[in-house]
Amino acid sequence: MVFTEKTIHEFLEEQAKKYPNKDFIVYPDRNLRFTYKEFNERVDLLAKGLLHMGLKKGDHIGIWATNVPDWLTFFFAASKIGGVLVTINTAYKKDELKYVMKQSDMKAIALIEGFRDVNYLKTIYELVPELKKYERGKLKSKNFPKLKHVIYIGAEKHRGMYNTHELMLLGKHVPDEKLEKAKKQVKNDDVVNIQYTSGTTGFPKGVMLTHRNILNNGYYIGERQKFTEKDKLCLPVPMFHCFGIVLGLLAILTHGGTLVMLEYFDPLLVLAAVEKEKCTALYGVPTMFISELSHPMFDMFDLSSLRTGIMAGAPCPKELMKKVIEKMHMKEITIVYGLTEASPGITQTSVDDPIDKRVETVGKPLPEIEVKIVDPKTGKKLGPGEVGEICCRGYNVMKGYYKMPKETKEAIDEDGWLHTGDLAMMDKDGYYRIVGRIKEMIIRGGENIYPREIEEFLHKMPGIKDVQIVGVPDEKYGEEVAAFVIKEDGADIREEDVIDYAKENIARYKAPKYVFFVDKFPLTASGKVQKFKLRKIATEMLEKR
Ligand code: AMP
Repeated sequence: MVFTEKTIHEFLEEQAKKYPNKDFIVYPDRNLRFTYKEFNERVDLLAKGLLHMGLKKGDHIGIWATNVPDWLTFFFAASKIGGVLVTINTAYKKDELKYVMKQSDMKAIALIEGFRDVNYLKTIYELVPELKKYERGKLKSKNFPKLKHVIYIGAEKHRGMYNTHELMLLGKHVPDEKLEKAKKQVKNDDVVNIQYTSGTTGFPKGVMLTHRNILNNGYYIGERQKFTEKDKLCLPVPMFHCFGIVLGLLAILTHGGTLVMLEYFDPLLVLAAVEKEKCTALYGVPTMFISELSHPMFDMFDLSSLRTGIMAGAPCPKELMKKVIEKMHMKEITIVYGLTEASPGITQTSVDDPIDKRVETVGKPLPEIEVKIVDPKTGKKLGPGEVGEICCRGYNVMKGYYKMPKETKEAIDEDGWLHTGDLAMMDKDGYYRIVGRIKEMIIRGGENIYPREIEEFLHKMPGIKDVQIVGVPDEKYGEEVAAFVIKEDGADIREEDVIDYAKENIARYKAPKYVFFVDKFPLTASGKVQKFKLRKIATEMLEKR
């Protein structure tokens, strides 16, 4: 029995009745606050605005925006009309957007003006030049025959587009009964969100997630952190990813807490938001915690309100976990392991676990999820201590990849097990450790090398701030180990120092043969290191040597 069979918007409405005057969403840097009741009323207006435009159950609505308030409003408004929110990576450029708009059969897209080096408005006018000629809502696009509406998030006017301000005003004229009727048609196993899986593996596929998938996963993730309505979570991770929507938004919603939002990640803004709002929880991928801890103004902030949080999305180095516990007061911080296809959480640590398990492992399976480790070649189930592919089964497994039945079958087998592509091991106490990805595993002269192990080890070397390990082609051994290192400020270490340190302390075959010093790693917009890019960079650099 899972926690709830409700839909996401039913849950919001319930909480709005239970906690009408409690802060649900807060933007500290904009001085903007919405109580549960106010937020639900905004959602109703936007949902009615979407109905006014003619959008209905099953329609795909894209959102291309940073974590602005309307992002969250769109998510719940789409849910109320039975729509499916297609969440778009904020770092995408024209061709990636084109692919996702087409592949997902998008009927409407909502966007902001732009972010960092991408001008979203310019991009959409280039892809849909007809926008400039047509009246709003009467769009006929050559490139995207299904696309009917482009919505600008904000109050300004742009040719051919509705803006959210107008939509909410129009929503006022739509009778309540129309929205009630639309809501009644929505079931909890309907798809509510399609997310394109991040670029750590290359080709993007649209993961279809249902209300049941993500609402329950969010709840269990909040439970392991012992969330109550008193908790205030600072969320600097992108909303277009499960980390933001499920682990953040839905974990807080299901526990009646407060979400302290940042439009995008900035270490200084995070530290300031935690202090200002006295947050009790903070989330991030490892690289985010590294940049908060190493920020020159770190010591100026009072973080003593922090209690728990999540580090996830990528291997979480033990030394970093220890620093976060000691220096950021996050004594109850947890690690989550998962992937978008699993809604995303599969395992999580808990404050009740022994400290070594809390910093070294990804914990135990979440409730109602079965987990097993199999031999990737034979599919045979493996025992404790053996490394293989981690698979899971339960309410949290995605409905499938949108319009990709072949890839869906490859990911979910006949017995309902989701194959993650990650290599893991369960110890004798039932805790899981992630050791790498199937594609990431380095095979050097027949020896399997798990990058994670060497990364953990090199994190201990004085002078190393962050490190990534990849395999590079080698004539003699098939593959060799290459390390990408970010030095601590002012550290004086050379390639030979890193190699010698490794050779002296770990099996020689695991020691990097090559070391490249860099200032940063190529990251996805959600902050994950793109190892395939590092592999390419290393291979190219070695060809030049
Ligand atoms: P995504 O679908 O973008 O969430 O990416 C999921 C992938 O991130 C997983 O398949 C893992 O390779 C990696 N990942 C997520 N959480 C962890 C973790 N706690 N430790 C190690 N790798 C992780």
